[in-house]
Amino acid sequence: MDFDLTPQQSDLRDAVAALGRRYGHDYFVAKAKAGQHTTELWGEAGKLGYLGVSVPEEYGGGGGGITELAIVCEELAAAGCPLLLLVVSPAIAATVIARHGTGEQRARYLPGFADGSLKVAFAITEPEAGSNFHKLGTTARQDGNDWVLSGRKCFISGVDESAYVLVVARVASGDRLQPALFMVPVDAPGLTMSNLDMEIVSPENQWLLYLDDVRVPADALIGGVEAGLPALFSGLNPERITVAAMGAGTARYALERASAYASTRQVWGRPIGAHQAVAHPLAHATVQVDLARLMIAKAATLYDAGRDLEAGVAANMAKYASAEAAALAVDTAIQVHGGNGMTTEYGVATLLGAVRAGRIAPVSREMILNFVAQHVLDQPRSY
Ligand SMILES: Cc1cc2nc3c(=O)[nH]c(=O)nc-3n(C[C@H](O)[C@H](O)[C@H](O)COP(=O)(O)OP(=O)(O)OC[C@H]3O[C@@H](n4cnc5c(N)ncnc54)[C@H](O)[C@@H]3O)c2cc1C
Repeated sequence: MDFDLTPQQSDLRDAVAALGRRYGHDYFVAKAKAGQHTTELWGEAGKLGYLGVSVPEEYGGGGGGITELAIVCEELAAAGCPLLLLVVSPAIAATVIARHGTGEQRARYLPGFADGSLKVAFAITEPEAGSNFHKLGTTARQDGNDWVLSGRKCFISGVDESAYVLVVARVASGDRLQPALFMVPVDAPGLTMSNLDMEIVSPENQWLLYLDDVRVPADALIGGVEAGLPALFSGLNPERITVAAMGAGTARYALERASAYASTRQVWGRPIGAHQAVAHPLAHATVQVDLARLMIAKAATLYDAGRDLEAGVAANMAKYASAEAAALAVDTAIQVHGGNGMTTEYGVATLLGAVRAGRIAPVSREMILNFVAQHVLDQPRSY
């Protein structure tokens, strides 16, 4: 397996990194603290084609794969701008529609994903169901040509800046209920949202969604009823790979800040990096981050080669490794900065909430360990 970036991928990496540096972490934090969104960064990244790198060329996208989208996620995060909407909109929603949408749905939505003008949130989590997807309570029932959705969703990122939310609901199918995905306009009558107060410094917010008999037309259902489960699963590997890339980028950003600080800060007449107690934790975190990046590259390569089952294992492992490495890297970077580590100015503690959340969402570390124990180690299902 060859993980060497192609010349085009290297150019993409350098160009996205340059764009990210022009905005930087101070911009990201200022937007978060002002309760605003990173509209300028998103708009510019869209115009330059970075948000649509994985959208098929026939719809105006870059025609690349998840490898390219992961590069975009990692490099923006490495510049201090970890954008969660990259994960929900281009990685999940665009992939689901590209893979399972009807011809008409692809033609309607994909051009907007290609230039970033369309943002779509993704809603699966529910207060009662939590990690237990089988307990999803949001339902969709057919009424004439329409579908009527009812239920509650929680922690849904970026709904306030999205045009649609891709809602996972259960439809009646004979005796059993099965999942289906609906494109619901955020201004649909019956859809209300309330902001969740989160301890994360981010310009992107989480929301509670209430769907009270929300009526959508037949063509809001992505790919038809039978497409539901495969469509849902097709979004999961891209989600895990890109969220892992975002974690790795965040970790690189924190370690770069900490290394620069350790090289210049003097307390005993020489840079603090000369103390192994300072340098070794940085080196240790760097090893963990690079290992995670290797697994991200493997997962993206397998996914782009169409080897979905193997990609599933690698994507879960990449997500796990990256989340742990990012939490370690940010914590280490704070420690190396001493008191300055907890200031807003030095721009590392501002990432604490985000990397901590990365060990919980979009899939928790425990659920990944369950998956690995069961599917890699052949252990009995534990839940
Ligand atoms: C910042 C952020 C953004 C998010 N954005 C979105 C979004 O855009 N869209 C969306 O749909 N959701 C989103 N989520 C929700 C996220 O996907 C869930 O929080 C996550 O899947 C965990 O579900 P839960 O919070 O209900 O935890 P629970 O399922 O209640 O789990 C609680 C704890 O118990 C553990 N646990 C549960 N079951 C088991 C088991 N069988 N074995 C071992 N341990 C177990 C979990 O690992 C966890 O530690 C977001 C969450 C956060 C924090």
